[in-house]
Amino acid sequence: MIKLKTIEEIELMRQSAQLVSKTLGMLATEIRPGVSTLYLDKLAEIFIRDHHAVPGFLGLYDFPNTLCMSVNEQVVHGIPNKKPLAEGDIVSIDCGVLQNGFYGDHAYTFAVGEIAPEIQQLLEVAKQSLYLGIEQMIAGNRIGDISFAIQRHNEKYGYGVVRELVGHGLGRKMHESPEVPNFGKRGRGPVIKNGLVIAIEPMINLGTKNVKQLSDGWTIVTADGKPSAHFEHNVAVVNGKPEILSTFDFIEEALVKINQ
Ligand code: MG
Ligand code: MG
Repeated sequence: MIKLKTIEEIELMRQSAQLVSKTLGMLATEIRPGVSTLYLDKLAEIFIRDHHAVPGFLGLYDFPNTLCMSVNEQVVHGIPNKKPLAEGDIVSIDCGVLQNGFYGDHAYTFAVGEIAPEIQQLLEVAKQSLYLGIEQMIAGNRIGDISFAIQRHNEKYGYGVVRELVGHGLGRKMHESPEVPNFGKRGRGPVIKNGLVIAIEPMINLGTKNVKQLSDGWTIVTADGKPSAHFEHNVAVVNGKPEILSTFDFIEEALVKINQ
């Protein structure tokens, strides 16, 4: 069952989403060759607790850390570790918080130093597809309209759209109805209504769409070992239109400063 949110609940969810956005913005200033994903995970946990919230993933389904950190061919659900990031890597950071009873959950794929042009394009196209999906989040449309827009944009570039993992409703639980696939047909699926809040999260592979799970029981990797990108926003429908509750502004401001 889809739990539509009131305007008051959406305001609380905006606060949770904004805290995730700020956490990712803080991390953006720390990502560089030589830094470990475990170090970044600890920084995020401290930052979230300092802001009077609780890490949303830590302990959820027994996940051991604050962040899912997925490097290169890892798609999602990577477990932070002590291995240093290297020049040319990409790292997808997925972060959740629980604050005032509501979850925020969003993700961004970062470049570590200089990356190959074909990987830079993957990141740009995957991010564009997230916004194309969001544009379809209009009252009266259906979830399939979001899915179709995301799939079509990525497949224009020959990228693999992951099937096994999908976006989701968000609220007092991290994963609520409906499922929000990144592939699908226009005009299919649940009708989009005012008060719907979902996490839209394209997971896009440079090569094959096929993935597999590592023996750690968590990490999802591409079947062909090629890199994968992941971008996620939390979006509400207000007055019939999409309102993005999270933001990449903190990240993008930090990256501009670093590159000056
Ligand atoms: Mg997420
Ligand atoms: Mg999510």
